[in-house]
Amino acid sequence: MQFQRLRLVGFKSFVDPAEVQIEPGLTGVVGPNGCGKSNVLESMRWVMGANSAKAMRGTGMDDVIFAGASNRPPRNHAEVSLTIDNAQRKAPQPFTDSAIIEVSRRIDRGQGSTYRINGKEVRARDVQLLFADASTGANSPALVRQGQISELIAAKPQNRRRILEEAGGVAGLHTRRHEAELRLKAAETNLERLDDIGRELE
Ligand code: ATP
Repeated sequence: MQFQRLRLVGFKSFVDPAEVQIEPGLTGVVGPNGCGKSNVLESMRWVMGANSAKAMRGTGMDDVIFAGASNRPPRNHAEVSLTIDNAQRKAPQPFTDSAIIEVSRRIDRGQGSTYRINGKEVRARDVQLLFADASTGANSPALVRQGQISELIAAKPQNRRRILEEAGGVAGLHTRRHEAELRLKAAETNLERLDDIGRELE
C-alpha cells in the first residue's frame, strides 16, 4: 500500500481545499513557522482514525474544524481524504482487489465523525483495522512529528514495545483478541446461566 494523495477541506488552517501528492519514498514537509506543517501530518493521523483531541493538539474533536480568521468566518465541517495505491494488492481483506482505496473522514460541528472507504460508510474501527493490518495507522512510526525522535529515546520500554508492535503489524491483532475475549466471557456467563436453569428444572 502506498499513500498517493491527501486532500484537506476546512481542516485546521486549511480552510480552502488543498491537495498534496505523496511520492514513493521518504517525504519531508518544510516551510516557515506556523504555515501548517504539523497540521498536514495531523490530518493523516486523523483520517486514519485518531480519536484523541489531545493528539490533535486540541481540547475537543471539533477543534480540527477551521475556527475562522480575521477575514474568514469559521467552517462547520472538515474533511480529509487519503488515496492509497494498492496496485500490488497488499491491502488486507476485503480491500485486496481494489487497485485504489480512498479513505475519508468528515466531521460536522457538534455531530461527530463519519468515515468512508471507497465511498461506503464504515465504522472508525474498520478504518483503524485497515491501517493497523497494513502496519501503519494514526500511531505509525512512519509519521514522524516534531520532537518525536527525542521522545522515543526517552520512552519507557512498554511504550517502545507498542511502537514496535505497530511497525510489525500486530497492533490490529490486539484489538481483535480483546474483542474475542469479551465474546468468550459473554458466552461463559450464558453457559453458567444455562447450568443454573438446568439445575432448577432437575
Ligand atoms: P511550527 O514550524 O512553528 O511548528 P507548523 O508549520 O507546524 O509550525 P502548524 O502547527 O501545523 O504549523 O499550524 C499552526 C497554524 O494553524 C496556526 O497559525 C494556527 O492558528 C492554525 N490553526 C490550528 N488549528 C486551527 C483551526 N482549527 N482553525 C484555524 N487555524 C488553525
